[in-house]
Amino acid sequence: MSDTLIISISGVRGIVGKDLTPDFVARYAAAFGSVVAGPGKTVVLGRDSRTSGELFSISAAAGLRSVGCDVIDLGIVPTPTTQLAVEHHHAAGGIVITASHNPIEWNALKLVGSDGVFLDNETGVRVKNLASSDAIDRVGWDGIGRTIGDPRSIDRHIEQVFSLPYVDTDAVIARGFKVALDCVRGAGGKIIPRLLKELGCDVSVINGETDGRFPRAPEPVPANLGELSEFVKKTGADVGMAVDPDVDRLAIVDETGRPIGEDYTLAFAVESVLTKKTGNVVVNLSTSRIIDDVARGFGVAVTRAPVGEANVARVMRETNAVIGGEGNGGVILPELHFGRDAPLGVSMILDLMSRTGAKISELVERNPRYVIVKDKAPRTVEVAPIYGALEKKFDGATLDHQDGLRLSWSDSWLHVRPSGTEPIVRMIAEAPTQEAADTLVAAAREVLEAQ
Ligand code: MG
Repeated sequence: MSDTLIISISGVRGIVGKDLTPDFVARYAAAFGSVVAGPGKTVVLGRDSRTSGELFSISAAAGLRSVGCDVIDLGIVPTPTTQLAVEHHHAAGGIVITASHNPIEWNALKLVGSDGVFLDNETGVRVKNLASSDAIDRVGWDGIGRTIGDPRSIDRHIEQVFSLPYVDTDAVIARGFKVALDCVRGAGGKIIPRLLKELGCDVSVINGETDGRFPRAPEPVPANLGELSEFVKKTGADVGMAVDPDVDRLAIVDETGRPIGEDYTLAFAVESVLTKKTGNVVVNLSTSRIIDDVARGFGVAVTRAPVGEANVARVMRETNAVIGGEGNGGVILPELHFGRDAPLGVSMILDLMSRTGAKISELVERNPRYVIVKDKAPRTVEVAPIYGALEKKFDGATLDHQDGLRLSWSDSWLHVRPSGTEPIVRMIAEAPTQEAADTLVAAAREVLEAQ
């Protein structure tokens, strides 16, 4: 099997033309349609703006219809819009054709269950097994499904966000914020400029085209937001916002042009919700300690879940959480749905700015400061032996084996795990100083390279 084809519980991801071909996508979609839906049932289909998206969308629709499923094709929309549409239509499931933040040569299928949440392990394995078998039941001439459109999916998404008790639209509109926006030519251009205008913002957009020709690495991490930083300064914006190609992650640039790091997106959203409602908070193991500090201020504990939207959503359900998400800029609010949602994050942050009257830099200053260092290395060796070596090296640390290895201390942590979406090992550390965080990552790299 190709080393770039990655099949996980909630989807399949690979390089266009090498791993992902129209016949592969059609087959995988047919297997998905057979397992979660069946003849006469409906599956919602959405995609981001990648140049391969339309081709694979046609392929996926063909696969689904060949097993008798009807398809509701949303066209280019955010992943969370597709998730909401699955619930709205009471569909049997959904397929989103997007490789999220991966570079331009990648694409993927994200598989969504009837509850609008990414597939659970058991169902994902059944889809995978059926796709690699000869047992897919195709329908005959009189059983082929049909494709219909749904031009209101984005309208509904915006309406649902604005109806939440955490977004005082009138108050935000009255402030008339200036916002600089970078949609990286992904699906964000379909929703975020419009949402901001409806919130009374004066919006300046770069990369708002939805042609999928990403002008930079599409992950909204500080290193990739140089153009937006300059744009914030040039336009005198109150805030800069960047979303990833499928619009489930949001990163913020402050009014001075400084990218503040994606963890603050969730920290601000947690503050916003806990101000109005008390309850559990769930974040993944790689999320900043800032969330713990914010939650502690409200007397609330934080539960950690393995990395990945499906895992965080599962633990949020189990613990009846009021808010949660991932430190990569993904906010999940159960009152909206169990999916990371950047349009939600955008609205909640503007609401927080409006309610507190504070600038972004001031909101950052109110929280303790940590430095997060994220590094990665090619996954060329088995990862498991590395954990044992790290445990030995850091004798006395608190260990968490839910997802790779997370070692933690009173004010710092180190998380080493194989990526679920790329053939790499991620090493993430957080500490009060740059030096301390660098030292932790360097230690992980040293152990990794010694294997
Ligand atoms: Mg994404």
